[in-house]
Amino acid sequence: MGWIPSRFMASGDVELAIIGISQDGGVPQAGCDCVNCESAILDPRQRLHPVSCAIRGSDGSLHLIEATRDLAEQLGIASRALGMGVTSVPDTISLTHAHLGHIDGIGQFGKESMGLRNLPLYASQSVTDVLYRREAVSPFMINVIEPGVAFSPSENCGFTFTMVPVPHRDEFSDTHAILVEGPRSNLLFLPDHDEWGQTLELHGCVEIKQWLASMGVDFALLDGTFWDKGELVGRDILEVPHPSISETLEMIGDREDGDPEVIFIHINHTNPVLDRESTQFKDVISRGWSIGMQGTSISL
Ligand SMILES: [Zn+2]
Ligand SMILES: [Zn+2]
Ligand SMILES: [Zn+2]
Repeated sequence: MGWIPSRFMASGDVELAIIGISQDGGVPQAGCDCVNCESAILDPRQRLHPVSCAIRGSDGSLHLIEATRDLAEQLGIASRALGMGVTSVPDTISLTHAHLGHIDGIGQFGKESMGLRNLPLYASQSVTDVLYRREAVSPFMINVIEPGVAFSPSENCGFTFTMVPVPHRDEFSDTHAILVEGPRSNLLFLPDHDEWGQTLELHGCVEIKQWLASMGVDFALLDGTFWDKGELVGRDILEVPHPSISETLEMIGDREDGDPEVIFIHINHTNPVLDRESTQFKDVISRGWSIGMQGTSISL
């Protein structure tokens, strides 16, 4: 599903692996018999993990973004994609916000599973407040991160993270995208936000490409939850606002020289782009953009 041009990769490179591309509920989503969920139940190869990334630093360290319930499988995907064996324990973890799919694997770092202590965890004040309230902090060394300030998750990892605030129904915590700045390329991880107007306004921009260029973004992993607003049958889509892929495509048009690579992630189980044969999938590809794929790696 989708493609990403691979870049020349030398050893010691900073490299990011996409290890989950679905919305919080995963595919299959519990109790759903839609076409996509049914085929994922019947064929485990069609199964999609909630959105997450892992980055191998230039010193061989491993850094996880988000902690989903499919952590065990995803650490395996990360290790294999990044040439780190069958699986690995991450050296740090960073979180964008506190919605369920992004943090429901957090307990697996504790006593009942991995039994870690002092694992550095990076998140905003309000996200760490949620973890304290849930009494989920014992495996971690908690680091509260201010938005807009670049930091290295570990000393010699060779890249930085910056938390970029984005408006998103913030009932539990605020929400950030994460800008990853590597030695050669920058990548924006933006799984969830409410709508482009508010996000762009917050950052003083009017165009998506203008905002991405202001951060020097080469790869943009963007919220692609829904194809369009008609998709959530039986539920009010206004309760779960996300810019649809069709809206984003309307705003960014076709890919032109000098544009960043746009890769849609956080795909809902109802989204027709999950089917490579769909006209919607082909539309995204024909405009020069792509749909994320688990196990893809990007050299930064
Ligand atoms: Zn989400
Ligand atoms: Zn479904
Ligand atoms: Zn969310």
